[in-house]
Amino acid sequence: MTIKTANLGFPRIGKHRELKFALESYWADKSDAGALLDIGKRLRAQNWALQKEKGIDIIPSNDFSFYDHVLDTTVMIGAIPSAYGWKDGPVALDTYFAMARGSTGEEAHVDCGHQHHHGHGVPALEMTKWFDTNYHYMVPELGPDQSFALTANRPLDAFIEAKTLGIHTRPVILGPVTFLKLAKGTEEGFAPITLLERLLPVYARVLAELSAAGADWVQIDEPCLVLDLSGEEQAALKHVYRALHELVPNLKIMLATYFGNIGDNLPTALSLPVSGLHVDLVRAPQQIDVLLEAPADLTLSLGIIDGRNIWKADLAAILKKIEPLVQRIGADRLQIAPSCSLLHVPIDLDLETGLDEELTSWLAFATQKLDELSALGSPGGASQAIAAASEAVTSRAASPRVHDLKVRQRVAAIDETMMTRSSGFAERTGLQERKLRLPLFPTTTIGSFPQTSDVRKSRSAFTKGTISEADYDAFLKKETEAAIRWQEEIGLDVLVHGEFERNDMVQYFGEQLSGFAFTQHAWVQSYGSRYVRPPIIFGDVSRPKPMTVEWWCYAQSLTEKPVKGMLTGPVTILNWSFVRDDLSRADVSRQIALAIRDEVLDLEKAGAAMIQIDEAALREGLPLRKADWKTYLDWAVESFRLCASGVADETQIHTHMCYSEFNQIIDAIAAMDADVISIETSRSKMELLEAFRSYKYPNEIGPGIYDIHSPRVPDVEEMTELLTLARQRLTDGQLWINPDCGLKTRKWEEVRPALVNMVAAAKALRSIG
Ligand code: GLN
Ligand code: ZN
Repeated sequence: MTIKTANLGFPRIGKHRELKFALESYWADKSDAGALLDIGKRLRAQNWALQKEKGIDIIPSNDFSFYDHVLDTTVMIGAIPSAYGWKDGPVALDTYFAMARGSTGEEAHVDCGHQHHHGHGVPALEMTKWFDTNYHYMVPELGPDQSFALTANRPLDAFIEAKTLGIHTRPVILGPVTFLKLAKGTEEGFAPITLLERLLPVYARVLAELSAAGADWVQIDEPCLVLDLSGEEQAALKHVYRALHELVPNLKIMLATYFGNIGDNLPTALSLPVSGLHVDLVRAPQQIDVLLEAPADLTLSLGIIDGRNIWKADLAAILKKIEPLVQRIGADRLQIAPSCSLLHVPIDLDLETGLDEELTSWLAFATQKLDELSALGSPGGASQAIAAASEAVTSRAASPRVHDLKVRQRVAAIDETMMTRSSGFAERTGLQERKLRLPLFPTTTIGSFPQTSDVRKSRSAFTKGTISEADYDAFLKKETEAAIRWQEEIGLDVLVHGEFERNDMVQYFGEQLSGFAFTQHAWVQSYGSRYVRPPIIFGDVSRPKPMTVEWWCYAQSLTEKPVKGMLTGPVTILNWSFVRDDLSRADVSRQIALAIRDEVLDLEKAGAAMIQIDEAALREGLPLRKADWKTYLDWAVESFRLCASGVADETQIHTHMCYSEFNQIIDAIAAMDADVISIETSRSKMELLEAFRSYKYPNEIGPGIYDIHSPRVPDVEEMTELLTLARQRLTDGQLWINPDCGLKTRKWEEVRPALVNMVAAAKALRSIG
């Protein structure tokens, strides 16, 4: 038996981040468009060659992008907002980048997962999370008058480019329904999906030209099939695929779904006149049963290698799992593939020479996943690979590094009392007031101060070993002291130490916890030219020793004013990591929560009266299907409470979240029961506080009154105005005054005047009462 192997997409960034460096050089005017285009061409050729060499039967094309594949689609169909000045014909590279980054050429400031407009010129398109991944796409903006025209047939160009290199590919196209569903209407109440009829001829032409050029299959991605779809959207799918089938009958469509279960959309999916269906059997293995009943002429692509995580697959188990399908349907109607595009995993484990051998033996990055597929596709010839995979799986399952009995026992012993503060907020708040003696409308910041080039240089010198630990420490102390002095001087009420010692809000903790590993080269695209190296959580998590107490003590020793302890919460740590797949996410989260709880208690013991536990990414982890939200929110909230509830009533627990769209999850936010929550509200004109008002949210809130994503310094009046709006929705006793988020990405020249103004706004408000 041999089954065809297929790939759905390969990382674009290059093994050595070639794409990033080429883009940055082009944007900085250090190289020309020709050089950039050449790099793109070289990367595509390399990727195709690699996949061929690995023996992949079906190789994708048009999976490459200079910035983002959704933006590529927007440009391909000529849906370019008029502000970018395009009329017709081919779209210039600089127009494309203006849509991605704004026409001022200033790179988007994204540290909380979305893009922010600022500066002069034309702002970039909005950016948001691609499904539940940490990849971000540029959101198409469509209005009722939108027309579409094919500006350049990108999939065709890619197909021909590969063909010239002797590789017959299956071009990848973002499906029209998913594209429209991801778009936002330019007008209130306008649903882009109503534009489908107008979009259809453009797609038909793309396909017809591909077919004429010799393409036999295309992969059309409709991941919207794993979302909750309206009747209208389901009807749109039926309509568009019937039409495409009629217009281009000779081209076979592999309809790709991924990131979840097709579920109630299955009848729709199976009714479409397509030749193939790809399903994600990693995220939703239960789908294998319904596939047994698939129509007899449908080719099934089984997504069985995890495209979202970095663990070596258990090849023998996979073969066993798909065996009934092979028996029933026959190998010739099956393909095996990664669950989704390999975009979401790092490129090549072989680059990672710093990891220990044992851990390395458990991992597979994109390149290794191609090997896994290949081995599965030819099981007769690959028994060695299969045996090796089994060995890796057994070794991981048995390793003492993965299993810590003490941690397991602690998690098993968690009970309700550990997740509940001794008294309710109504009682706590009085005790805290008496202890802290803060003025009305207390002022504070979210934690970090500018990570200046000095800070970064010093850190990198320390990591490289060119300065000693003592020198580095002295430098950090100097920075921290200056920050404390300055905060006192301008009259902030609650101080922070500034987080100068932290490289990143997750990595800093991960590096001090057991069960985490960090890589040197395992970059994954977050958006455009920004790549991240997520930590790998491979084993039971524990905290060998206090992580932040010394820094907090040092900062507090410098001042009489309260300094907040500053921690990252378990859900955020989890959501920004590659998480082990042999334990539920809820349990991994509980383990991290216990470690953070210990830190909270140590901070309290050291004298901290206020401790902030950031949950920047709590909302990011929401499942794709509404029906799964409650389960997630339940354990996410439990994890937070587990961190926060060990302290005395007098100790004030803060949390921070980098957004404010809480209307759908306000119950969960309230259930977290943080004494104070700071959120991002400045750009929404406080409208998003409505959720808190109508819920009658009782605890204290610091709605951000200054947009930290922009270099602009807001004046006192502007902040006062926002505070007035906030006071329409919150009581005075509830209201804290702070920026939207941490200030690490800003310059001191921007931060200083802005915070001076913020304190002035608070004082003005107090005086008029
Ligand atoms: N305490 C962190 C900081 O100020 C919070 C950052 C975040 O929420 N993204 O940097
Ligand atoms: Zn934030």
